[in-house]
Amino acid sequence: ATKQLIMSEKLAAIGEITAGVAHEINNPVAVLQGNFDVMCSLLGDNANIARTEIRLIDEQVSRINQIMTKLLQFAKPEEYAGFVERHDAGEVINDCLPLVQHLLNRAAINVTLTHTSTRFIVMNRTELQQVLVNLIVNALHAMPDGGTLTLMDQDMARDGEPGILITIADTGIGMAPDVMARIFDPFFTTKRREGTGLGLSISKTLIDRQGGSFDVTSTPGEGTTFLIWLPEAS
Ligand code: ADP
Repeated sequence: ATKQLIMSEKLAAIGEITAGVAHEINNPVAVLQGNFDVMCSLLGDNANIARTEIRLIDEQVSRINQIMTKLLQFAKPEEYAGFVERHDAGEVINDCLPLVQHLLNRAAINVTLTHTSTRFIVMNRTELQQVLVNLIVNALHAMPDGGTLTLMDQDMARDGEPGILITIADTGIGMAPDVMARIFDPFFTTKRREGTGLGLSISKTLIDRQGGSFDVTSTPGEGTTFLIWLPEAS
């Protein structure tokens, strides 16, 4: 219990610092982006000369913005709570696929979709989509040489409470136990510069907040399965 208390105090402190820093960084980035846009329109046809450099600056500024949004979301989740709606989980899963289509095309990924749930769940649609996209992108990262991505939703009770179970499984590299023990820690990543280590900690926070649960099983060299349970909408 003491360990948990220290952990939650640590998280609160990280949250405060992160929110402060993120707000501070957002302002100069907005100025950069604004001036960059003006500069591009002033260059007009001449922009072609520095095409590669312009594209790189544009991409990297977008990346900073993405990281800042994630950081703020992690630090101040209540500001991002948004409103909550009833959903058919299968529909939300389907809507995620176009968002990751470019990644599905890159490697030979076989997608298996099984939609059998009949119960509605309550959750902010954008947040649920964010959780699913996070898990799908992680699954694809784990299968650089291709494999099978399984997406499934089914009716499932937990301790007698009706709900649905969403399965996101990959046949990728899997995780060693010491990695698995830390995946929900904020900022834990094995992806060096490419990763923020925030995807799973934010996802878990969002699911917990809806009274759901988040489980994972993984075998190194065989793959990983994430299970999300959400209660039925009353
Ligand atoms: P990020 O993806 O930015 O690293 P996450 O919080 O989403 O942050 O994931 C944390 C870590 O968990 C990853 O760096 C990776 O080591 C591990 N992980 C997550 N999903 C998978 C998966 N499907 N297969 C193997 N490892 C995974």
